[in-house]
Amino acid sequence: MSGILYIVPTPIGNLEDMTLRAIRVLKEVDLVLCEDTSVTQRLFKEYGIETKTSVFYAQTGIKNIERVLERLSEGEKIALVSDAGTPTISDPGVLLVDHVRNELVDVEVIALPGASALITALSASGISAATFTFYGFLPHKKGRETLFKTIAESDHTSVFYESVHRIEKTLESLCEYVPERRVVIARELTKLHEEVIRGTAQEVKTYFANNKDHIRGEFVVIVEGGK
Ligand code: SAM
Repeated sequence: MSGILYIVPTPIGNLEDMTLRAIRVLKEVDLVLCEDTSVTQRLFKEYGIETKTSVFYAQTGIKNIERVLERLSEGEKIALVSDAGTPTISDPGVLLVDHVRNELVDVEVIALPGASALITALSASGISAATFTFYGFLPHKKGRETLFKTIAESDHTSVFYESVHRIEKTLESLCEYVPERRVVIARELTKLHEEVIRGTAQEVKTYFANNKDHIRGEFVVIVEGGK
């Protein structure tokens, strides 16, 4: 029997955003690899999932990956989840998928569709997603300014993830680099305080200056492409 590696998206806030298939797969596999056991256990409790979990430290090197490869080659079915959204999208897992595909030809990799902040934000934005560039998290220091220049020169929609610590600084940069473009901030998607703020960078910046209590939670930033 060949092993299977499932890539299973989990909700980005609203626990109802689990697919029936994701619940079934998480119940059926031998092991679920996760980022943080307590986060995954909260989800498991909601859906009565009792599968064993193990923390998967992708960053700590090849040893962890080898252990998973061994189990898959013995025929186990293993699911990979992250704390929220789709694994491998600004989350760990890509190296594991690469190794499985390169080294275990008999093992299937099956990715389930599901929640991702990137796609949810784009579809809520009203900005064209016909062609877009996703930057993940922008670098904090080196290369950050260069990326803003690239975004300013691009005729594609640009999308990136941003943390609460840098959102105001980012809006300042957008005021400088793309003052005329439409900017959308999608915040706390699928959660109680979900909001989508649209305007020029200056308008959005002013909104947050007047609503300081909204500078919290999780953010996706979208910048319309140049004409
Ligand atoms: N793999 C995840 C996905 O598919 O969406 C992304 C994981 S990344 C570590 C976390 C970042 O995604 C957050 O810092 C934020 O920028 C964005 N994000 C996640 N959940 C969000 C939400 N509910 N609303 C807005 N942005 C969110």
